[in-house]
Amino acid sequence: MAYITINKENYFYNLNECLKHINNNIDNFVLILKDNAYGHGLLQISNLALEFGINFIALKNQNEAEKVKNKFKNILLLSQLAQDYESNENYILGINSLDYFNYTKKNDKIMLKLNTGMNRNGLQINELKQAIKIIKEQKLRFLGAYTHFSSPNNIDKQKKLYKEYCTYLQDNYDEKLFFHSSNSSAVFLNKNDDLAARCGLAQFGFCDVEANLKPVMSLYAQKLSSRTIQKDEIIGYDERFKATKSMLVSTYDLGYADGLIYKENIKIKNNIKILGKISMDSFVCESNQNELCIFDNAYEFAKEFNTTVYEIFVRLNQNIKKIII
Ligand SMILES: *Cc1c(COP(=O)(O)O)cnc(C)c1O
Repeated sequence: MAYITINKENYFYNLNECLKHINNNIDNFVLILKDNAYGHGLLQISNLALEFGINFIALKNQNEAEKVKNKFKNILLLSQLAQDYESNENYILGINSLDYFNYTKKNDKIMLKLNTGMNRNGLQINELKQAIKIIKEQKLRFLGAYTHFSSPNNIDKQKKLYKEYCTYLQDNYDEKLFFHSSNSSAVFLNKNDDLAARCGLAQFGFCDVEANLKPVMSLYAQKLSSRTIQKDEIIGYDERFKATKSMLVSTYDLGYADGLIYKENIKIKNNIKILGKISMDSFVCESNQNELCIFDNAYEFAKEFNTTVYEIFVRLNQNIKKIII
């Protein structure tokens, strides 16, 4: 069966590299584990994160949070629909617009998402007064606020606004608020002056900017069957590969249903070429090995598809077995 290995030593190394940028203050570190921990396995990665001492994570919504709700004290829900939200002592609802307050209830823990220019989610500066008023009226537990940068190029511009938002909020609220803005690339650009951070990709060994990190995931497939084909015979759907010589080929148990992107003539690790079209549950290579490594560095693999490591990771079917090494 195809499987994924998770390198624990590299994982802890990457977490330490992230923490260095916030004075090793683990309580100010929000670890992003959305989308099945970027395909690495929410349960497996949660357990490693707990062992490391993480207590604050962020997930997409309560469907994801349900799976780990008793493990972490703080779970920020980034993309939860307000109308479906069911409060939980460990959950913090990310408020993506003022409309969310139509559904919040007394004692709910919340953090305000601040729109500083990405224009994806969050409140505008002229909405903060209203937000604070409602927070007090509804007796919500207001814990902090955060923004998100659209790219490394836009950080300076957004940061200026972000600071204005933060000052306004803290000046108008009695309790100490927790502010965070930097994702992985902002942290490793040394553009973070929060003493808090919100890292996703970096924990898995990659970053859009220079960072000395180590890949955590390797993906393997196992041989289903082998055969020798003759010159001019074809392989796979739509006859997209035709042999120019006699060759020994094998079929491996990973396909686009497992998350490989549907593309022809891509190369896996060691420059081994996938022959013809990838099938739903398998692909074919000129090889007789019982097992093939698809990638141990997702960045190289992503280049084959002209995409990012984010996409390579999150497409991986969550049922692929995970082995911690
Ligand atoms: C996904 C996400 C992050 C993590 O970004 P990385 O680039 O993976 O570090 C941080 N904040 C928000 C709001 C996100 O949606």
